[in-house]
Amino acid sequence: MCFAKKNYQAIQIFIIVACLLLPMLSVAQETIDLKEFNLVAEEVKELKKSDLVGSLKKLTVYENLLDALTVEQNLLYFKLLTEIYLEQNKYGIAKKTVDKGLSIAKRLASPSIIISELLYLKGFAYESLGDISQATKEYKNGLEVAESLHNKIQVATGLINLGAISYLTDDLKRSLVLLNDAYNIAGQTDDEELKGTVNTELGIVYSYLLQDEQSMAYYQQSYVHFKKAGMLLAAHNSLNNIATNYINNENYQQAIAVFETIIEESNKDTPTDNMFTLYSGMSWAHLAKSDSNPDLAYQYLLMAKKYLQFTEKLDFRLQFYFDEANVLYDLERFDEVLISIVHIEKILANHQDMPMVKKEGYVSIINLKAAVFHKKGQFQQAYETKSRVITLTDKLYEKEDDRSITQVRLRLEAEKADKQSKVLHSQKVLHEASLNKVTLENEEQRLYLIISALVALAFAWVLVKLVQSQHKLKIASSIDPLTGAANRRSLMIKSQDAFKLAKSKQSDLSILMIDIDHFKNINDSSGHSIGDKVLANVALLSANMMRKSDVFGRFGGEEFMVCLPKTTMKSAMEIGERIRLSIHEYPWDYVGSVSVSVGIASLENDINLLSLIKRADEQLHQAKASGRNKVCG
Ligand code: GH3
Ligand code: MG
Ligand code: MG
Repeated sequence: MCFAKKNYQAIQIFIIVACLLLPMLSVAQETIDLKEFNLVAEEVKELKKSDLVGSLKKLTVYENLLDALTVEQNLLYFKLLTEIYLEQNKYGIAKKTVDKGLSIAKRLASPSIIISELLYLKGFAYESLGDISQATKEYKNGLEVAESLHNKIQVATGLINLGAISYLTDDLKRSLVLLNDAYNIAGQTDDEELKGTVNTELGIVYSYLLQDEQSMAYYQQSYVHFKKAGMLLAAHNSLNNIATNYINNENYQQAIAVFETIIEESNKDTPTDNMFTLYSGMSWAHLAKSDSNPDLAYQYLLMAKKYLQFTEKLDFRLQFYFDEANVLYDLERFDEVLISIVHIEKILANHQDMPMVKKEGYVSIINLKAAVFHKKGQFQQAYETKSRVITLTDKLYEKEDDRSITQVRLRLEAEKADKQSKVLHSQKVLHEASLNKVTLENEEQRLYLIISALVALAFAWVLVKLVQSQHKLKIASSIDPLTGAANRRSLMIKSQDAFKLAKSKQSDLSILMIDIDHFKNINDSSGHSIGDKVLANVALLSANMMRKSDVFGRFGGEEFMVCLPKTTMKSAMEIGERIRLSIHEYPWDYVGSVSVSVGIASLENDINLLSLIKRADEQLHQAKASGRNKVCG
């Protein structure tokens, strides 16, 4: 009894002590967590710049402790988690994560800038998954919040997001305006990440406008800022963009050198998507360089393939098989080329909703298929495959008509020159542009903008690739799939080179602009696919008249351009006449008759290629005005 009593007392004392201590203990526990979390969040923020897996581990320790954290801390948790997922290119799960954060944000007593940050992240997830309109909405909402809170950094970030998404939807001018606003705001802060990002985006837009020098300068700046911010992955992204610029300019050796630097600096934690891009770029460069090395290209492609299995992106799969088909073709492993093409066809069959531009890439794959059949001596199959190209391009143009090159030209031409020069002048950076635009007259600025916009459209294939990951620019094909002639980009690059050479050596150079007469009538009376056939045939007949050193390509629509180095006006007129005749005399059974008009200009005091093209274009108008089926120079 006594014992029992004593024991009871002991228990009583214990309970009292426990009751006193327990709440104290739990309070102590909670404050430690709160403080600790903020410290850990800081560490995670630092760590994720270079080590994604490590930062994820550190952060998710709190996964089951979220109830003990404040609303603000919860938001920070979900923000960091989303950022890590996005950097790992896990867009689906990133979207879910950011939604959790946004639903918690409803519990906030007053609006906080973190809401704007979360909305941007959500927009980025949508953008990466290809949903541009939803992404735009999220970005706009985020920008509204940032503006209402007068937060400079977040306002600039919003402008960058909207600027970047504008170039994905062809609106380059809007993109330049938004990005330059962001550039100016970023300059007022000392946020290195922000500066790095805006420089990257400007670099992309300028690369897109074929202003590669300007673009390189921005990429280099972005590299410097990202390095200062300690952001290795982003800095590598800048290098990757620089390498891509080199590739677009056919500077493959330099591209390879840059890729090698990235590979050296990369660590095991580099996201698989980046590694894929890296190795596939390396493969492309080795395949495309003048002393092409398909074997090495294939090895790099196999390395890229290792990372393919971990990515969510369909585009990468498409690109891989596209590259694989091309490499195997060069290796003359024709049966395997067909297998790669089957993969592509399967992907496209299962994803009918792919944007049309991707199908444009598909056209070139079918061309490749036809070439394989040809190599294998299966001529009937080659012929049938080739006919499919015609039907496919027909479909392409049906849907693409409302964003056709002609439409953009009209839209741009309709705008007043002064409005455009205002845009130009508002671009502080444009003043520093290497191009001596200041000396150009308004008229030339207008022509310049038009041509830039047209060139941009010719990049439809690149455009889609831009959506793929963090607005990374990818490799452009240089061939126009419909006619097999050089596409506008490569036509312009090669002509620029020829122009520079002629200028420096003071040698002759002539430009021919060829435009099919009443082509609209052919389309209207015989249908688009016949129109396409005519186009391809005109290209073939014209190309037959060229020397190896001549540059020939599709300028746009039903217009072709020829750049003839070391050619005087007199010889150019003869060549123009031969082209006109061969087209006029060709037995066009399936359409009756076809003719072209040709305008010619030869190098005089032209300050740049554009002024020469412009003069040839004037001659073309002359030829049209004097009855068509004529050559004027
Ligand atoms: P003009 O003699 O004055 O040059 O008259 P045109 O009808 O040839 O010129 P216009 O510029 O009015 O029409 C060109 C047409 O070319 C309009 C466009 O739909 C068509 N076109 C442009 N690209 C393609 C293409 O790739 N395939 C087909 N089938 N048609 C195209
Ligand atoms: Mg025309
Ligand atoms: Mg025409």
